[in-house]
Amino acid sequence: MEKKFEVNINKKWCKHCMLCVEFCPVKNLEFTGDKIKDKGKCTGCRLCEKYCPDYAIEVKEKK
Ligand code: SF4
Ligand code: SF4
Repeated sequence: MEKKFEVNINKKWCKHCMLCVEFCPVKNLEFTGDKIKDKGKCTGCRLCEKYCPDYAIEVKEKK
C-alpha cells in the first residue's frame, strides 16, 4: 500500500516565514491567514522539515 504522510506544525514556534509553503515540491502547504495548513498530499520528502528555520515542522507517516 502507498505510504501516506501528515505534517504537524508547532504553532508556538512557527513565525509564518513561508519557506515551507514556497519550497514544498507538491504545494502541499498553504497559509490560511493564521496558520499553515496541510492539504493532504504530502509525499514525505521532508524538505519542509529541513528548510524550517524554527524546527516547527514534523513530518510523520500516517498509520
Ligand atoms: S514533506 Fe515534502 S511533500 Fe510533505 S509537506 Fe513537506 S515539503 Fe511538502
Ligand atoms: S518554514 Fe517553519 S516557521 Fe516558516 S512558515 Fe513554515 S513552519 Fe512556519
